[in-house]
Amino acid sequence: MSDDTLKIQLPEDRIPSHWYNIAADLPVPMPPPLHPATHEPIGPDALAPLFPMALIQQEVSTERDIEIPDQVRDIYRLWRPTPLYRARRLERFLDTPAKIYYKYEGVSPSGSHKPNTAVPQAYYNRQEGIRRITTETGAGQWGSSLAFAGAQFGIEVDVYMVRVSYEQKPYRRALMETYGARCVPSPSTETEAGRQILARDPNTSGSLGIAISEAVEMAAQREDTHYALGSVLNHVLLHQTVIGQEAMVQLEMAGDYPDVVVGCTGGGSNFAGIVLPFLGAQLRGGPAVKIKACEPAACPSLTRGTYAYDFGDTGHLTPLVKMHTLGSEFVPPGFHSGGLRYHGMAPLVSHLLDQKLIEAHAYVQGLCFQAGVDFAKVEGILPAPEATHAVRGAIEEALLCKASGEAKTILFNLCGHGHFDMQAYTDFFAGKLTDDAYDADALAASLSHLPQVA
Ligand SMILES: *Cc1c(COP(=O)(O)O)cnc(C)c1O
Repeated sequence: MSDDTLKIQLPEDRIPSHWYNIAADLPVPMPPPLHPATHEPIGPDALAPLFPMALIQQEVSTERDIEIPDQVRDIYRLWRPTPLYRARRLERFLDTPAKIYYKYEGVSPSGSHKPNTAVPQAYYNRQEGIRRITTETGAGQWGSSLAFAGAQFGIEVDVYMVRVSYEQKPYRRALMETYGARCVPSPSTETEAGRQILARDPNTSGSLGIAISEAVEMAAQREDTHYALGSVLNHVLLHQTVIGQEAMVQLEMAGDYPDVVVGCTGGGSNFAGIVLPFLGAQLRGGPAVKIKACEPAACPSLTRGTYAYDFGDTGHLTPLVKMHTLGSEFVPPGFHSGGLRYHGMAPLVSHLLDQKLIEAHAYVQGLCFQAGVDFAKVEGILPAPEATHAVRGAIEEALLCKASGEAKTILFNLCGHGHFDMQAYTDFFAGKLTDDAYDADALAASLSHLPQVA
């Protein structure tokens, strides 16, 4: 590599052959999911109506390396390996001695990291003879990724899309329909969960927790239908580890290793994807890395939530999982990073924070959009609103280096482009984006209703 390396590309045969499972290296195992009524740990069979057995096995596996099926790698080749960039122009703009690298997942068909898990999820469902998958989507990234993956394997996809995003992002819906999926604004009148919420609050903006209830309810009713989740679960985070594994090889080619790794967190999957391979190396005796999760101040599960057993959905159809949660009734204000509007956090990411293996920071959206605009001007790529939180977090680290004179190496995950999110940028330029704090009383009320687990 020359000294002025800008973009590090790997050949197709360097797509990882295995996903990395950090469960093999955790010093303390994760608390198990519990049955919502008995509060006993649930066995794999409890999840069988919703997920294929291969994914349930990955969910509980402690095997370090899990082989990626050839058919999945074959589809990964459409966009993987993704490029790693050295952000030289951003470094100059910030006048920092830090080296900044970013892994760019926006080159995938849907424009984010989500197809990394959508494809294997559709694959394993197809292997089990499933004809239809239901799911929820926030900003529409996950819905369009699963719609794409469904089209690859001839599976019908029904997407319940959080109403506020359905209205803000009509082109995401059009993309889902292009891939052949059906997209329904949530809450809808199609499900019992949706009808109940609408009866209470007909003008609700919706939430991921509500949309999950709708999708789970529909999947539970039919033999030929399963449910898929785009984040939060162990197997989803596992699939995303292709990101960090590739980045490790690319940084090695550049002769570098990160001091700091930064990602944005909604449910925790893109963050885990870039971070876990580095954290695993640290746990096995490798170099220590500072790991920084960046979340929105309006939906601050890691920094303001309680670490407790809670439901994954608002309708209370899911098992209880231990996670940093704002309470399953919490409906965040309608800010623009739709993918970060989830009340909980991946149990694995929550466990890592609890074990003090990672740090968490919350940012207001105005600062994040400003970081996104600065980044776009110098680096050219327009970040997804969610990804601007990681940009902000990385810039903050680079500015700390400027103040201290340290030349740290910073790696962050640019998990998606914002080409379908231009309304958010338009609103930002028009001064219409407010830094709405969440409603503290509503949060306290929501947290007071956490399930009581002994
Ligand atoms: C879905 C999404 C997120 C949030 O989900 P995570 O599981 O936390 O990664 C963040 N960024 C983009 C671009 C997304 O599509």
